[in-house]
Parts: sequence; structure tokens; C-alpha cells
Amino acid sequence: MTTHKIATLPGDGIGNEVVPVAMDVVNRLGEMHGFTMEWEIQDWGCERYVREGSMMPSDALDQIASSDAIFLGAVGAPGVPDHVSLWGMLIPIRRRFDQYVNLRPAKILRGIPSPLKDDRAQNFDMVVIRENVEGEYSAIGGRLYSGSDNELAIQENVFTRRGVTRVMAYAFELAQKRGNHLTSATKSNGIIHTMPFWDEIFDEMSARHADVTVDQYHIDALVAMFVLDPSRFDVVVASNLFGDILTDLSAAMAGSIGIAPSANINPERIHPSMFEPVHGSAPDIAGKGIANPIGQVWSAVLMLEHLGHPVAAKHLMHSMEEVIASEVRTPDIGGTATTHEVAEALMAQIDADL
Ligand code: ATP
Ligand code: MG
Repeated sequence: MTTHKIATLPGDGIGNEVVPVAMDVVNRLGEMHGFTMEWEIQDWGCERYVREGSMMPSDALDQIASSDAIFLGAVGAPGVPDHVSLWGMLIPIRRRFDQYVNLRPAKILRGIPSPLKDDRAQNFDMVVIRENVEGEYSAIGGRLYSGSDNELAIQENVFTRRGVTRVMAYAFELAQKRGNHLTSATKSNGIIHTMPFWDEIFDEMSARHADVTVDQYHIDALVAMFVLDPSRFDVVVASNLFGDILTDLSAAMAGSIGIAPSANINPERIHPSMFEPVHGSAPDIAGKGIANPIGQVWSAVLMLEHLGHPVAAKHLMHSMEEVIASEVRTPDIGGTATTHEVAEALMAQIDADL
């Protein structure tokens, strides 16, 4: 029996409602597929911040460094600025554990229509790979001449050959496992130093992956294509900023933020990877028992794949899709079910699908 140590961070708001659902279904799958999870639950988040002045203890990252994965709910609370929850917890985790791949699948699940009207938009299945630790989100820069007419702000983008190559390598490998089609997001007509560098590395790597069909589009054209004909995409690789925009768009196209999963991956497996839904703590519905657990459960699918349980992952994905198709859905995706009812339906479906 394989045992995995999972640093479990439910966080704030609905994180505390959806993480237990995912833990229950994963435990059940473990009984069927021969693994167990040691969920090491931490109370890190905004409540702790309000109580003790920090989101997590000073040795927090050391505490979870030896875990096999990190399973996160959501952080954020009214009254706590976003940069506190982001820079006080999420970004330190991503950087310390070198989770340089942000992976977000987006596909149409049966029963959840895309907000896009076109027929072509009702059947897509893609994965966006976002560079997660460098690029446009750098701390280098500053402001000068404050208050004068000459006031200015400078923000440096930092792209390294190592950083670009490794995220593209991951994307090419993923494309080879899927439909052998990789699209690169660029803007080398306007951003004249970093983006041509990005394109150059993409071209070099394309030459070394002759089996993968590649294309590249400027980000402005690419977002339009996402909306007009998403079914033409398989794997899309993008820089930190472009990937941020594309992944929010693709999540919205798939119907609801409540179902979208994400993974922050350290492909070398030197450090733990982190799995979390795309949505936040949703303070407007927290405590009402109606949070959609699907984004968290789908994130658990990604975690199971990463931990080397592809059969269990497929099992869970299938059960999840069946439950959604059977119309046991929370209000955000047009249903009337509670979180608990979706959880029950999932457990029953998992048993039925064995
Ligand atoms: P945060 O500050 O933590 O990012 P937020 O309110 O900015 O919180 P979300 O938490 O993602 O962002 O919420 C955006 C909207 O989507 C809210 O109306 C919320 O209720 C809804 N929502 C988000 N996640 C879910 C979910 N799992 N189930 C149902 N509705 C959700
Ligand atoms: Mg938010």
C-alpha cells in the first residue's frame, strides 16, 4: 500500500467546505486502488493572519517541504488585502518549491454549456501551460520623480533561457501525450526584446520535436481565436502574464469558475507540487453549503495523476463527469444541489464506476 503525505491547506471561506469533500472522495478511491493519504491539515490563511499577524508560521515552508503534494483550498477574506494572502502564502509556496509550470485544463463537461454561443465553442478540450515564476511578474523596477510632471514607473520583464526552455519542454512533452499540437502565445511585434527571445526558443524546440504540430499567435489574435473557435487548440504555452489572462478566459469559457482546476508543478519532483481550484474563497456564499466542490475535486484528479495513480485519476474524472451530467449540480452551474448532495452523489458514482 502506497502512502502519500499531503500538506492540506483548506485556507479560507469555501476552501473549508470543498476540501473535505475532495479528501473524502480521494480516501474512497484509495481504498479501491490501493493507496492511502496522510492529510496533514494546517490552519494557515486569513483567519490566522487576523489573529496572529501572518498567514502562516515562519517555518511553514520547511514544515511542508517533505510532503508528496500540497492540496490547497482558497485564501482570501474581506478586509484582508489580496496582496497579503497572495504574497503571504501562495507566491512564497510557488517560488520556494520552484513550481514553474502552472497547468490548467479547460474543457466542456457534458451538461455545462459554454457561455459562448457558437457551436464550435461547445466542444473543446485544451490545457493551458503558464510559466509560473518569471517573465512579466518580476519585482524589478520602481518609480521616479514622484509627484512631478516627469513621474514615471518602470517594470522589468525577466525571461531566462533556462526558465523559458524548461516550461516549453514540459508543454512539448504534454502535447506528445495528447493531440501532438502545441500553440505558443507571443507578442513579438510589439514587445521587441523578450518576446522574440521566447519565439526563438520555441522555434529551436519545435525543430527538436518534429512530431508536434506547432503554431504561434500574438496574444491579441489568440484571445479572439479562443472565443471564436476554441476547439482548434490542444496544448497552449504562454508566459506568466499571457498565461494568466488565457487561463481565466479558458475557465470562463468552460462554464463556471467553480469547476476549474489548476496545478502548480515542479516537474523534476525535487519539491512538492501544489493543486488548487482556480476559484477563490467566495466570501459571498461561504457558510451557505452551496459551494461547488467540482473545482477542488478536479484538482484532486490532477494530484492523483501527479502522484502516479492514473487509473484512480481517470476513475474520479469519469465519476465527476457522470454526476454533472446527471444534473446533481450546485446553483453556480444552474442546479439546486448543495455541496453535500454533490458529495454524496460523487461517492455513490465512484462506487458504481468501479
Ligand atoms: P478571493 O478574494 O478569495 O479571490 P473572490 O470573491 O475575489 O475571492 P472567487 O472566490 O473566485 O473570487 O469568487 C468569484 C465569484 O464566483 C463569487 O460570486 C463566488 O461566489 C463564485 N464562486 C467561486 N467559486 C465558487 C464555487 N466553488 N462554487 C460556487 N460559486 C463560486
Ligand atoms: Mg479575488
